[in-house]
Amino acid sequence: MSPHALPLADLPTGLYIGGQWRDASDGDRIEVRDPATDAVIDDVASATPEDARSAVDAAAAAAAGWASTAPRERGEILRRSYELMIQHREELAQLIVLEGGKSRRDAEGEVTYAAEFYRWFAEEAVRATGHVQTAPGGDKRILTVLQPVGVSILVTPWNFPAAMATRKIGPALAAGCTVVLKPASETPLTALAIAHLMERAGLPAGGVNVVSSRRSGPTVSAMLEHPATRKLSFTGSTEVGRILLRQAAENVLNCSMELGGNAPFIVFADADLDAAVEGAMVAKMRNAGESCIAANRFLVEEDILDEFAGRLAEQMSVLKVGSGMDPSNEVGPMINGAACADVAAMVERSVDAGATLLVGGGPREGAGSFFEPTVLSAVAADDPILSQEIFGPVAPVVGFGSEDEAVSLANDTPYGLAAYVYTCDLARALRVAERVDAGMVGVNRGFISDPAAPFGGVKHSGLGREGGHEGLLEFLEAKYIAVDWSE
Ligand code: NAD
Repeated sequence: MSPHALPLADLPTGLYIGGQWRDASDGDRIEVRDPATDAVIDDVASATPEDARSAVDAAAAAAAGWASTAPRERGEILRRSYELMIQHREELAQLIVLEGGKSRRDAEGEVTYAAEFYRWFAEEAVRATGHVQTAPGGDKRILTVLQPVGVSILVTPWNFPAAMATRKIGPALAAGCTVVLKPASETPLTALAIAHLMERAGLPAGGVNVVSSRRSGPTVSAMLEHPATRKLSFTGSTEVGRILLRQAAENVLNCSMELGGNAPFIVFADADLDAAVEGAMVAKMRNAGESCIAANRFLVEEDILDEFAGRLAEQMSVLKVGSGMDPSNEVGPMINGAACADVAAMVERSVDAGATLLVGGGPREGAGSFFEPTVLSAVAADDPILSQEIFGPVAPVVGFGSEDEAVSLANDTPYGLAAYVYTCDLARALRVAERVDAGMVGVNRGFISDPAAPFGGVKHSGLGREGGHEGLLEFLEAKYIAVDWSE
């Protein structure tokens, strides 16, 4: 299929370096597939390490000019980018459906969420304030100014191809940093479309550079080793995050890491059960479970365990599974066959170990990587499915007897990204929210993402925050100036 058959008719498919669209230096291309049909929908340039180094050179060449651009002007370019994304919401959503396999509703939701990061950081661009104080000894003033950290390498996953890019580009540009984005090789088209729209919004050459590559390791390494690079902002698996942290250490880079999760969804017997089941559906099934903050383990107080699991299974059983090209479908395909097979193996092991399959259970026959929405009950506390990031439409349900046990089960994981608590007892909700090892807690809510809130994890789920004012600070460095202006 020619690129012109894609929704954004004039979408370029090259590398975007220094404001120019160009081929990879060795002419290599990546095929992009539709996970709903396995068909190739397009191909894009695949950067070599040398191309990646040129992209860092381009970001470095634009760095001083961008850092000295008035914050208001930087904000206005982000604001125009927000408006263009909203104007092209339908086309962007269709791209995400095609290459990422989302349902239409999830894809549209993602575009709005992604664009909102530009609106938020357009507003934050003018809020990088420093401070002044008198030194305790009275001998001088301490001036603290915030300056852009410098050229930033942004590496993003396939599961939110628009939002993970804008959640990094927005604060970086607002802070005065220039960037190179390396999107996931499964979903490069959305990143290219966003860069294309930003070009139209008036972004100067070199401000944002995009290098898709199917050789992620060598390409990213080349950028992390580049002497002009000062920061890595990564979103992806903990496994890859660890590799990149080691590499970043060589060049002593500032690092923000958004890694994997294993979110507990805790339901106490006094919870509003309708609300808990509704929240569970959102927390589990947004993006067909392929979300870092997806509820991964349902911890439910014994008294209501069967009722909760039964009602959850009922809701899962009526979901319409199919390609997002049909907007009535609610659950899209998983990203590829390998992901589907991994989830199938987890479910099989769990059932072999004694879990009860209430609904679903495996991949759907035929083309595409579709997995049936699945609920497992009577899952043993030591079942491996509870310690892995499932990243698919599978909900294991486990019972607990007391608040202490719920907290201890919730914290029995090296991850600490999101957690959810359902109870009508406010004191308990807040107590549990404080005790749970997580960077984010939804209290009687299954949907927590908000560009104005700090998103991020503790333990092996990462370092730093994205969104909120904290997201801007990740791209700023404090400089202390000592001044004595006494006579
Ligand atoms: P991944 O770690 O496989 O890939 C992420 C990015 O790193 C991609 O661009 C990929 O091409 C690149 N990459 C892969 N191997 C690399 C290597 N050796 N060197 C350099 N770059 C490399 O993750 P994924 O499968 O794309 O995404 C799913 C994971 O992302 C899940 O674990 C999910 O929890 C996590 N995630 C986290 C957040 C968060 O905010 N914490 C958000 C979304 C996704």
